[in-house]
Amino acid sequence: MSPQSVSSTRSSIADDGLSTELADLRRTVEEFANEVVDPKAADNYRNHTFDYDIVAQMGDLGLFGLPFSEEYGGMGGDYFALGVALEELARVDQSVAITLEGGCSLGAMPIYRFGDEAQKERWLPDLVAGRALAGFGLTEPGAGSDAGGTATTAKLDDGHWVVNGSKQFITNSGTDITSLVTTTAVTGTREDGRKELSAIIVPTDTPGFTAEPAYDKVGWNSSDTHPLSYDDVRVPEANLLGTRGRGFAQFLSILAEGRVAIAALATGVAQGCVDEAVSYARQRTSFGRPIAEYQGISFKIARMEARAWSARQAWRSAARKMLTGADFSREASIAKMLSAEAAMDNARDATQVFGGAGYMNETRVARHYRDSKILEIGEGTTEVQLMLIARSLGLEGPESGKGRS
Ligand SMILES: Cc1cc2nc3c(=O)[nH]c(=O)nc-3n(C[C@H](O)[C@H](O)[C@H](O)COP(=O)(O)OP(=O)(O)OC[C@H]3O[C@@H](n4cnc5c(N)ncnc54)[C@H](O)[C@@H]3O)c2cc1C
Repeated sequence: MSPQSVSSTRSSIADDGLSTELADLRRTVEEFANEVVDPKAADNYRNHTFDYDIVAQMGDLGLFGLPFSEEYGGMGGDYFALGVALEELARVDQSVAITLEGGCSLGAMPIYRFGDEAQKERWLPDLVAGRALAGFGLTEPGAGSDAGGTATTAKLDDGHWVVNGSKQFITNSGTDITSLVTTTAVTGTREDGRKELSAIIVPTDTPGFTAEPAYDKVGWNSSDTHPLSYDDVRVPEANLLGTRGRGFAQFLSILAEGRVAIAALATGVAQGCVDEAVSYARQRTSFGRPIAEYQGISFKIARMEARAWSARQAWRSAARKMLTGADFSREASIAKMLSAEAAMDNARDATQVFGGAGYMNETRVARHYRDSKILEIGEGTTEVQLMLIARSLGLEGPESGKGRS
């Protein structure tokens, strides 16, 4: 089979079950990923460069607007369309894909879902166009999987919320175009004695808000991640997002949707590893034959393809259920867990197919190898997904945190 026919086989599998409109979108993003993102990926990775030009071009293509209505400048699509785009981007560069995923599902979506009209009009047009980015400030040093451990506080004082505390590992929170961070904070005590958690919009130019220096990460080198500190940050009372005391429920619903998007992203990684392994195994010879002719290699790649295919079925099935309005949280957890494992396993196997070349950062498989671990951690760890799936079977688990459904 020629390389051309390998690629068209992949395209026809990826297009399977897509409407004409979505298949067109997939091909557009595939072309963009191959022609614009891929040529810069290795340099951006090496230099830890957040690529503003690629972000602007994704904005021009309408990618940041995919799941938002036209009223705010969006494309009128949904999470399924976003997933299709994320899969194609993640195939070649996870950092670019997570910048889009964070921008849409963690950045703009909380305002789209829970904002009042004034908040939507003020923030959404720039976010939806990719001219601005927003962070989702939930995780803290003492509150990760157990988000109920939130210690950041917001107290009302003379018509303002005064926010104090810190957040960690927040995506898209310190770029030159980050306009706000939706920040979860303790705003009081509930009648049952538990913390009242609310979400507050904190514009990044507010005095007392600081995006601390970026992390030195294992992967996702060209994406933006910072610790944040809040030192007497005063924002108007009207910056409360959604209902006071509903912050916990609000962020859980944002995270459930985000898991479907992350699952699509992870599927793209799993598929990218298959594509690279097929093409390398066909041209690399050993003992006088292409290594693809050895079953030790071809079976490994066949198993990788099965993982990528299964991951795609899982995220698409979860996304379809989400769009019906039914509770999709169980499917989202299954998809997130399976696809993250598929990405990690395929990255490891693709690196093995490449031999020593797979250990060099200029190869895509090496970058996937380093990048993929976070897929089993971010937006709810694999253990948290298992906790949620177990609970859907009637098996009990901890009552608080990101694991709570
Ligand atoms: C690159 C990157 C980007 C991120 N972006 C964001 C962002 O934009 N916004 C944001 O808010 N957060 C973000 N995060 C944070 C991420 O969501 C958390 O790291 C993740 O939820 C895990 O929390 P933790 O790190 O505190 O781990 P912990 O909660 O401390 O977990 C440690 C280990 O214990 C396990 N564990 C915990 N509780 C249980 C249990 N009950 N049963 C079994 N096992 C358990 C976990 O699965 C894990 O293996 C990001 C993280 C990274 C690394």
